Amino acid sequence: MADILVKKIACIGAGYVGGPTMAMIALNCPEIEVVVVDINEARIKAWNSDKLPIYEPGLDEVVKAARGRNLFFSTDTKKHVGEADVVFVSVNTPTKTTGIGAGRAADLTYWEGAARLIASVSTGSKIVVEKSTVPVKTAEAIGKVLKRNCSSPGVNFEILSNPEFLAEGTAIEDLRKPDRVAHAIGTDSRIGPKFLNASVGFGGSCFQKDILNLCYVCETLNLKEVADYWAAVVTMNDYQKQRFVERVLGAMFNTVANKKIAVMGFAFKKDTGDTRETPAIDVCKGLIRDGAKVSIFDPQVTSDQVFRDLSTSKFEWDRPDYSRSHTRILDNVKVCSSPTEAMEGSHAICVLTEWDEFKTYDYQAVYDKMCKPAFVFDGRNILDHDKLREIGFIVYALGKPLDPFLQKNY
Ligand code: NAD
Repeated sequence: MADILVKKIACIGAGYVGGPTMAMIALNCPEIEVVVVDINEARIKAWNSDKLPIYEPGLDEVVKAARGRNLFFSTDTKKHVGEADVVFVSVNTPTKTTGIGAGRAADLTYWEGAARLIASVSTGSKIVVEKSTVPVKTAEAIGKVLKRNCSSPGVNFEILSNPEFLAEGTAIEDLRKPDRVAHAIGTDSRIGPKFLNASVGFGGSCFQKDILNLCYVCETLNLKEVADYWAAVVTMNDYQKQRFVERVLGAMFNTVANKKIAVMGFAFKKDTGDTRETPAIDVCKGLIRDGAKVSIFDPQVTSDQVFRDLSTSKFEWDRPDYSRSHTRILDNVKVCSSPTEAMEGSHAICVLTEWDEFKTYDYQAVYDKMCKPAFVFDGRNILDHDKLREIGFIVYALGKPLDPFLQKNY
């Protein structure tokens, strides 16, 4: 196996991990052909267009430099996986929604499907690299699937476990200058200062899913107390989002019915258009349930995505059924194309994503066009609260002393 000369790499899964990671490999290894394959035609089409399917600072430049040279995106999974010397697997591993372990365990259907595909088209030995987040011992299980399903004699599979640590929003920068070259994991700044910030709740495709899966693994090993400990992290996160909605409601005289509320930011964090498990979904649903008219602005999230998220059940987003239709039953939701449109005439502003541009607005002008009292609920603690109070806003900031206005009973 050690003598495999790598001429071609295939990556199964053209998502947030597969796309950027392979683009960087292609950029830096021009002598290797890199092909990213996916069953999702729309996604592949977008990777081959001027409007890439995901937003990551710096990604456009990297893709443009390598695409068509030694970087390709294709739906012909069999051809490219068959020809590759190394196959990266970065398919989705969602939380199970039915059966044993539903709501907690990882659904390995897509992973196993990818393994069966590799086995069925391999005529020569390959290195298979698992990048998806999978439970311990998956490499062993996949090894068995590969071995039992490959009919070509003499084919060997070397399975490398290389779980992804990508952080959306800084993926390209992190790939260029990986923190772990220089420091032990404890000083990795993506785990330290960049993540330990106050927020309305954590989101993203991985963290909750991985914690639930960890709970499940603990349970199957009879470590119930340990499982309960980790489950509490998710419970606290749900509580944080619920508490934020209650805070908005309580401050606004216990009714938000028919009040316009500007929701600033829908992505789960800044510098990405990713909305998977974003806290904005639960916060918006909470406000809508109480009759608020929600006006959402996010620099990178499309209105289709917002409507899909607000009409999709929990965990369903992580399946490659992108054709799912959504009905526009959400009459009280408006997705705005400018911040002014979202905030003008509103009773309150809820900051749910820490986009830098939110700090730069002329809040005096915003205040002048809002209903009074004008509230700001800063779910990310990014705004200048003293300045906002000087202007006249009633400001709620996470973990900070309450505004005198909010301390009184109504
Ligand atoms: P994603 O949903 O964006 O992309 C996965 C892609 O795999 C989808 O486009 C899907 O159509 C494709 N796919 C599924 N089965 C396939 C098959 N048989 N053949 C071809 N394509 C197939 O997911 P992602 O965010 O890129 O995450 C991938 C994995 O990496 C997950 O296990 C996730 O937990 C892990 N991960 C993600 C991140 C992140 O920041 N997004 C970070 C660390 C780890």
